[in-house]
Amino acid sequence: MAKKVTKKKAAKKNKKYVYFFGEGKADGRADMKNLLGGKGANIAEMTNLGIPVPPGFTITTEVCTEYYKNNRRYPAGLNEQVNKALARVEKIMGKEFGDPNDPLLFSVRSGARSSMPGMMETVLNCGLTTKTIPGLIKKTGNPRFVYDAYRRLMMMYSDVVMEKAAGIEPKSDHDAVRHKLEHEMERVKKKKGYKNDIDLTTEDLKALCAKFKNIIKKTLGTEFPDDHMKQLWGGIGAVFQSWMGKRAVSYRKIEGIPEHWGTAVNVQTMVFGNTGDNSATGVAFTRNPATGENLFFGEWLPNAQGEDVVAGIRTPNPVNEAGKTADTRHLPSLETKMPTLYKQLHAIERKLERHYTDMQDIEFTIEDGRLWMLQTRVGKRNGQAAIRMAVEMAKEKLISKQIALLRVKPEQLDELLHPSVDPAHEKKAKQLAKGLPAGPGGALGQVVFTADDAEAWAKKGNKVILVRNETSPEDVHGMHAAQAILTAKGGMTSHAALVARGWGKCCIVGCSALEIDLKKKLINVNGTVLKEGDWITLNGTAGRVYEGKLNLLPADPEHNKWYKELMKWADQVRKLGVRTNADTPSDSATARTFGAEGIGLCRTEHMFFESARIKAVREMILSDTIDGRRNAIAKLLPYQKKDFIGIFKAMAGLPVTIRLLDPPLHEFLPHSEKELRDLAKEMNVKFKKLKARNDALHEFNPMLGHRGCRLGITYPEVYEMQARAIMEAACELKKNKVKVIPEIMIPLVGHVKELEDMREIVVKAAEEAQKKYGVKVPYTVGTMIELPRAAVTADEIATQADFFSFGTNDLTQTTFGLSRDDAGSFLPYYVEKGILEDDPFITIDKSGTGQLVKMAVDKGRKTKKNLKMGICGEHGGDPASVEFCYNIGLDYVSCSPFRVPIARLAAAHATIKKKR
Ligand code: PEP
Ligand code: MG
Repeated sequence: MAKKVTKKKAAKKNKKYVYFFGEGKADGRADMKNLLGGKGANIAEMTNLGIPVPPGFTITTEVCTEYYKNNRRYPAGLNEQVNKALARVEKIMGKEFGDPNDPLLFSVRSGARSSMPGMMETVLNCGLTTKTIPGLIKKTGNPRFVYDAYRRLMMMYSDVVMEKAAGIEPKSDHDAVRHKLEHEMERVKKKKGYKNDIDLTTEDLKALCAKFKNIIKKTLGTEFPDDHMKQLWGGIGAVFQSWMGKRAVSYRKIEGIPEHWGTAVNVQTMVFGNTGDNSATGVAFTRNPATGENLFFGEWLPNAQGEDVVAGIRTPNPVNEAGKTADTRHLPSLETKMPTLYKQLHAIERKLERHYTDMQDIEFTIEDGRLWMLQTRVGKRNGQAAIRMAVEMAKEKLISKQIALLRVKPEQLDELLHPSVDPAHEKKAKQLAKGLPAGPGGALGQVVFTADDAEAWAKKGNKVILVRNETSPEDVHGMHAAQAILTAKGGMTSHAALVARGWGKCCIVGCSALEIDLKKKLINVNGTVLKEGDWITLNGTAGRVYEGKLNLLPADPEHNKWYKELMKWADQVRKLGVRTNADTPSDSATARTFGAEGIGLCRTEHMFFESARIKAVREMILSDTIDGRRNAIAKLLPYQKKDFIGIFKAMAGLPVTIRLLDPPLHEFLPHSEKELRDLAKEMNVKFKKLKARNDALHEFNPMLGHRGCRLGITYPEVYEMQARAIMEAACELKKNKVKVIPEIMIPLVGHVKELEDMREIVVKAAEEAQKKYGVKVPYTVGTMIELPRAAVTADEIATQADFFSFGTNDLTQTTFGLSRDDAGSFLPYYVEKGILEDDPFITIDKSGTGQLVKMAVDKGRKTKKNLKMGICGEHGGDPASVEFCYNIGLDYVSCSPFRVPIARLAAAHATIKKKR
């Protein structure tokens, strides 16, 4: 036993925490993302591919996990391993860290398993101290560059390490150390009449660095560290700390990234894109991430450091000629400015895309004419681009059709199905401003200026557009809540653009005509003043901004050839049917264009509310005798019949499941005394009588009360009329040679006897209708399974049913004992706290509600082998639930029209995943 413990300890001590990369050899690989983070794994892979990568090392995500487990202490042995890796880098570079004559400098960056753009910390230029500065000046002969690097180090380090990681909370944004340093720099620029940072001279920067030291000491109470090792460990610690920072935690929640994954830390030799005109830096994509076009696409800046491109402070240049737009035509491309290096970069990006068989998002730096690759990762893309890339890559034989299908997340189709600005209306409207089209589609909303306001307004049900100079990761919650994002600064790779693209949200960036006054909450756009709450419309596809509300047009996926191709492939692969929930002919027609293969749920109660009908319904409710009820209900028959004719026509040749009346009757009566008095007058009944009836219908738990088939049991004439209307409509159409497949569905059955009784009524009415018309229309009678008792006794219920349709809205409600109408006040908290992984009304609760569904499927099929089974709760349009439905053997899912394509793709995914 004792031996075992020692062994374990020894293993822990020898555990590899640090993975080296450099000079064509790396300890890691691309498939080690869990341990090295996405960035670290890909740097290792690039190194192994012989691509020029500055050498360095990755500290594993396990260190992060252990760090938090052990009260923020590093595991034993880490120090030693870091020192060893440092020595290897020094050997390759022929320089030493901290050497006063020729110092090596490092960047320290985060890198989680899945990319979290800008959510965690980075410190560049670690190793610049009063000892090393003179050596670096001597070596580079460029004192301006050295002091510029030093002021950047101080800005980042004091903010990230000395303030944020140290847990210091500034009283306001203005008190934050970074703000103070930026303010000082702006002051100097203004005083000297400079426009850009680049105008600052060596002397200015030198003086600024001295000033910075004082400000840091004064603000934070500690000296800026003048020791290279202290800086390095400070940076490493800050990255680990930032894993639990506010932004990272909030981003993880939105993206569903688990906390226990942790982040890795990448320590890498600094290469500089800002040593002069022979240096540059850029960010690029191997294909256009906004459109999916197979074109190398990117942005670069000469004499700049990486953060300058993404921070949106300087407008970047296009990387090549082909990627130029009307707005960037006048800017110099890397292709023309540095043709040899561009060629080398182009060859590398091709190699990377072929190697990873997916679109890559790359970062590069050119230092004194030498190209270095800093990063490659699978690039985020919007839905439109994802579809085009997947289809084109499959056609290029880079990937299989199955992989192409898996490359598009079902939810991404949503973007294609989103509205766009009506071009006719847009033509007439006066454009307010123009920016870069970072996220497609159209959106309208009220202007808000802060992320917190966006969230608060959206919570109240307002549609908002978040307007900022530029966004930062602190804004993610507001960006998420907003309909769209509009920024005055930034390029296509700015934070706003990246995040919005990932979500497929309408977004315009770099809209420089906006002069935003945050304090007064005003925007001045060439003389037009907009204030908080004013409406604007964005055309995110073209980058155009309009005042007021423009018409939005529904999406038009039918004219997108890549989408159509992908959906064709999905239909070839999937085994699960996809129907729609629709109660009108127009919704049915829309769903059919989206590929619905029938109606899985037609809720008839919606047809009862129109003005002429509601009167008859109320008459029926108020009458005390069967005959009185029959007379009233007979008035509804022609309306219902007309409704069904419209729906059957729209779904000609496809099955249509019609559910008989479900909600409690009180829903059809008004509630206030005044409305009741008006109604009494209108119906010529005494108010007292009406009130008494209304009171009698009152229920404490109406959702568990007199509804569903319980209505049919007590008022059989209602179901009788509905069955007759359905079958008369079907017979009439049959006579006109329209193929109709009616499926009549009884709701809220809990006992087989209920279904037996209701079936008898329906069959009788159906037979009579057929006799009346002298035609035969095949029809079926089935039931919803939406109560636990129905699921548990599904074998008995199946004796009376031709089909089952799972009403998982009610089944979730009754399984959890949760009111679906009231759970909103506490259920989100359950999800936030992690008590429930997902909202069970959105994604089916597999281990609870799902097990009841599975049990009912198995029991039902034991009684009737070929019993048809589907789902018509909201879960039918949720990709994870669709997969579950396929795996337990349902025949189809049914969802709202706009989710039909999503369900089709999710069904294809389910088939592919099950096969693998
Ligand atoms: C259900 O309960 O899942 C269902 C589809 O019916 P409704 O939502 O109308 O109660
Ligand atoms: Mg229901």
